[in-house]
Amino acid sequence: MTKSTPLLKERSRLSKKRLLLSAAIPLLLLGAFLVSSRLTRTEVSFIGTKAITLIEDYDGPQKKITVTNQTEVGQLLRTIRLVPKRPCACAHIHRVIFHKSGGTLEVSICDHCFAVEIPTKRRNSHRTVEYEMPPEFYAAFRTLALRRSNENWMVSP
Ligand SMILES: [Zn+2]
Ligand SMILES: [Zn+2]
Repeated sequence: MTKSTPLLKERSRLSKKRLLLSAAIPLLLLGAFLVSSRLTRTEVSFIGTKAITLIEDYDGPQKKITVTNQTEVGQLLRTIRLVPKRPCACAHIHRVIFHKSGGTLEVSICDHCFAVEIPTKRRNSHRTVEYEMPPEFYAAFRTLALRRSNENWMVSP
């Protein structure tokens, strides 16, 4: 009886350790998840956008519209809700460039794609992250393009 006491103590200390460990693992996993989700979020952040340029590259000279009015820029940004999607192989003739204080972020678009080109550490290289085209953003883009009716942007009226 007197001999078993220290053993019991040792056992309870061990199980306490195990308990702490089993509590720590989910916490560690949660931490890793939060860090990685924060990374992906900051990667595609449009915060700090001062101007937005819409570009059409199709037959003939490049067409370009730049929105610099802060109210209009804000309205455009608010239409962006990003939902990830599988990449598709469609060809795009439109691009949107977000001019941020720290650089630019380019997005290749069509009526159903919003492909963000994230610069990598290597110079002049990027990786593409595909999202569904936010319908409100596309509607705003179309309105802006159609306003330049004399330029004949390739968007359906
Ligand atoms: Zn497609
Ligand atoms: Zn597309």
